[in-house]
Amino acid sequence: MKLLKAFLLSVLLTWTIVLSAQKLERVEPPFWWAGMVNPELLLMVYGENISSLKPELNYKGVEIMGSTNLSNPNYLILDLILAEDVEPGKFDIQFKKGNKTIQTYSYELKERRPGSAERNGFDPSDVMYLITPDRFANGNPSNDVIDGMQEDLARNMPKGRHGGDIKGISDNLEYIADMGFTAIWVNPVLENDMPKASYHGYATTDFYKVDSRFGSNDEYRDLALRAKGMGIKLIMDMIVNHSGSEHWWLKDFPTSDWVNNQDEYLKGEYQITTHRKPTVQDPYASEIDRKEFFDGWFVKTMPDLNQKNKYMATYLIQNSIWWIEFAELAGIRMDTYPYPDMDYMTDWTCAMMTEYPNFNIVGEEWFDDPSIVSYWQRDKINPNGYTSCLPSLMDFPLQANLTKSLNSDTGKWKGWLDVYTTLANDFVYSDPFNLVVFPDNHDMSRFYTQVNEDMDLFKLGIAYYTTIRGIPQIYYGTEVLMSNPGTTEHGIIRSDFPGGWDGDPVNAFTGKGLSDLQKEAQEYLKKLLNWRKTNNVIHTGSLKHYNPKNDIYVLFRYNQKGRVMTILSKNETDFDLDLSRFSEILNEGDSGTDIISGKKVSLSGTLSVPAKSPMIIEIN
Ligand code: CA
Repeated sequence: MKLLKAFLLSVLLTWTIVLSAQKLERVEPPFWWAGMVNPELLLMVYGENISSLKPELNYKGVEIMGSTNLSNPNYLILDLILAEDVEPGKFDIQFKKGNKTIQTYSYELKERRPGSAERNGFDPSDVMYLITPDRFANGNPSNDVIDGMQEDLARNMPKGRHGGDIKGISDNLEYIADMGFTAIWVNPVLENDMPKASYHGYATTDFYKVDSRFGSNDEYRDLALRAKGMGIKLIMDMIVNHSGSEHWWLKDFPTSDWVNNQDEYLKGEYQITTHRKPTVQDPYASEIDRKEFFDGWFVKTMPDLNQKNKYMATYLIQNSIWWIEFAELAGIRMDTYPYPDMDYMTDWTCAMMTEYPNFNIVGEEWFDDPSIVSYWQRDKINPNGYTSCLPSLMDFPLQANLTKSLNSDTGKWKGWLDVYTTLANDFVYSDPFNLVVFPDNHDMSRFYTQVNEDMDLFKLGIAYYTTIRGIPQIYYGTEVLMSNPGTTEHGIIRSDFPGGWDGDPVNAFTGKGLSDLQKEAQEYLKKLLNWRKTNNVIHTGSLKHYNPKNDIYVLFRYNQKGRVMTILSKNETDFDLDLSRFSEILNEGDSGTDIISGKKVSLSGTLSVPAKSPMIIEIN
């Protein structure tokens, strides 16, 4: 009897061990779509000892080409091929030991919405509103604190979480549309379950899940659909260079080379990137300098993902496509663009543009020299033959030099010369008209602070950005002169938008409590953006500018249908501008309307240009 009991107990124990030994915790991507261009789909399956099981499935049009065990037995890579005509539907993936099914995952191939592949990305007809979701509006106070997540609410702390969320954006889309914006670039929304400073979103801990303090995957998708219905495109902020150090991978590495400098990390040491970006293009750069730049971690809490590992590379590519398809995206803003493996960025961009040929992606290469920035753009011919499929870049050189010009002394060799010369450098870009232009963003001083709170300079800058080539982007709150006097602390730059929280004394959505100057700035931007929205010549017209004289900089946008003349004066006094220099564009007897003042102007002879002001003249 004792023996029998012992035998039964051992059988029971064995069963328990077998049953608990192979768990299925994750299958990623969690679902996919039928009818994508790339027929291959790699599933990352995660669970204790999952690699000891054999995957099987039976669905017409789906074949398992192979399964790969990584060095960590808790991971299994399943390589599927989807037939071109595979039907949308669900099927079971069975994970078997011998003939016995130990685990089952119900996989779904969803139906793509008609026209999904042909979707248009953001383009020069758009103006983007950049939003830091934690700081814009708190639409749902009940998600401010989530049980089991590491960081709670601390609205009084610049680096704390303030409670803003996706619902806050969704609730205020009407304001955004009224202002004249046609796209929103929302800072990263994926889970950042980090112990501190997690509000900014750049330390992803789950690539398939929106942070619960911002909302849910479905809320993010609903935001995109609602926005689309109001003529607003959603642009997702993505990061493939790094994750957060609390990502589940780091607690159970799939391979020994999953992140760069992994051995050092396991020893408690950190190799941080040198941030020396020009080593990428530098013909004299040493290999060690390049390696230290590419493979170093962005910061200690942001491990550098190894995109040279093909499973990592595919995981990230599929993840990006998954979000485009799932969340109806109209664009991607790619963070820290030069930091990941550069050949991988070619693969990543080309994979996106192959699936979505009319899509747009803007890369962040924060460098003030056009020769460095232009290197990454699609169709650029580089001396070393490097190419990619990246359509757009952030125009950091123009941003830095416009501000320099605005703040510069006046005079023939000063003033507008910096921005004029920078624009002249456009010849190095393969497509300067698809660059994103911006006065400020979440990582730099507010534009009003950049121009030392000088309203005239603010207006000159905004007039420039709304009429220059490219796609303008404005940071939330810049329209009401949000500023960061005396500090460059990111948490202050990214302050709460007034009116986004119940009980806010000032409400920029309704205008309640705004100063006259704030109202003036808001109205000014609103007027220019709504005018720009329907002005084809600004979206597609050619550009001609004139050597600045007498501290006045003149630019034209023109095509068959129209002409717009932008006059930016830093002259301290009113000035009679001789128009004969502009006869390449202007004809005798031309007249127009100054969009800013609403006044009709004659464009014969001379034009009286008011001191330190912009004019935007739509020529009849
Ligand atoms: Ca909230």
